[in-house]
Amino acid sequence: MKRAPGALEAALAQLEAAHLRRARITFEATGGGRTLAADGRALIDFSSNDYLGLARTPALAAAMAACAAASGAGSAAAHLVSGHGSEHARLEQELAAYTGRERAVLFSTGYMANLAVLSALCGRAERVLLDRLCHASLIDGARLAGAALKRYPHLDAEAAARALESDCPPATLIATDGVFSMDGDLAPLPELARAAARHGAWLVVDDAHGLGVVGASGRGVLEHYGLASEAVPVLVGTLGKAFGSFGAFVAGAADLIEWLIQKARPYVYTTALPQPVAAATRAALALAQRESWRRERVHALTARFRARAHAAGVPLSPSSTPIQPVLLGSAAAALAAQRALEQAGFWVVAIRPPTVPSGRARLRVTLSAAHTEAQVDALVEALAAACAPAVEPAHAVDTPAEAADAAARKASV
Ligand code: PMP
Repeated sequence: MKRAPGALEAALAQLEAAHLRRARITFEATGGGRTLAADGRALIDFSSNDYLGLARTPALAAAMAACAAASGAGSAAAHLVSGHGSEHARLEQELAAYTGRERAVLFSTGYMANLAVLSALCGRAERVLLDRLCHASLIDGARLAGAALKRYPHLDAEAAARALESDCPPATLIATDGVFSMDGDLAPLPELARAAARHGAWLVVDDAHGLGVVGASGRGVLEHYGLASEAVPVLVGTLGKAFGSFGAFVAGAADLIEWLIQKARPYVYTTALPQPVAAATRAALALAQRESWRRERVHALTARFRARAHAAGVPLSPSSTPIQPVLLGSAAAALAAQRALEQAGFWVVAIRPPTVPSGRARLRVTLSAAHTEAQVDALVEALAAACAPAVEPAHAVDTPAEAADAAARKASV
């Protein structure tokens, strides 16, 4: 047993002492922008993944309501039983067309989509290569598959290629985020694609934070690099971020998608996404394509944020996407900066281990097309004040609990 029933209180106290205990705050959404109300106070939300500002768009809510009125709130069964409705089918076709793939299949969450892909494509005695900073769901997918897990240094495609050449048994699958969720940087896809093709391995790209945002028309990291779909046979996308709705999908060749439908346990053994959610996503997909100003706006706000934050001495990371981490080092420093920003009227969550490596706690600022220029400027001012006393060497490991966590992460590689 991992934790005996009587041991939880002490374990929670330990988390608290190490500044690693997380707290939920209950917000109300107010208005159409990214303002939240908590305890009677308004906070401007710079922590969401609503990059295109679609989540509160009336068109999505209207599509959802109309579909719910016509077909009910819930799907009432798994897709393979009686839960697969016409809105699901249409959305899958539209996602396949949007990504330029033969087929797409919907999942209830991105977490489940990644579990599905890895567990359906890999088995025991096989080896999976993952970027060290990839999303937790890819790691958990490899664990669900029972595959051996090897993590290569962040963005190091040469290390991945070397592992493919030398490892015995060779890896059968490489998986990476397209845009890294906590850093905002881009995976070296052309190099990874070449290595995977040379060795006949699957390449899985989870473009949760790239689709809708990155690339000339928002088609994600593949478009950014000018890669053909054959270079990345398995594309995972999420619908609760840039598309402002909920759910996820995998897009690829017809036989890959059919295999997932037949074999992926996180698809087969779960209730289908509610159809009203699929209807809202269809509205979002249409808006994301029609209203290119949303993408242009979030990129302009990102550039504005970076220029002003740089001038104000805020410690920025090299990210060109709307994910702008402000590295602060220790969990305590990140938490103190979060609290100072909250006092100033901004909601920017401190990201701490185990979500990021020990000593690399940060504020994860995210920009949205729903922000105003004035909100961005005010955030920079508050950040400069909040970070000034907090910046520590980014390698600092400041508490025994963080150090223990770092050791545990190492051991799990
Ligand atoms: N992949 C990445 C890269 C993510 O950042 C996330 C969400 N944080 C997921 C997958 C999971 O997506 P979902 O929230 O739809 O489960």
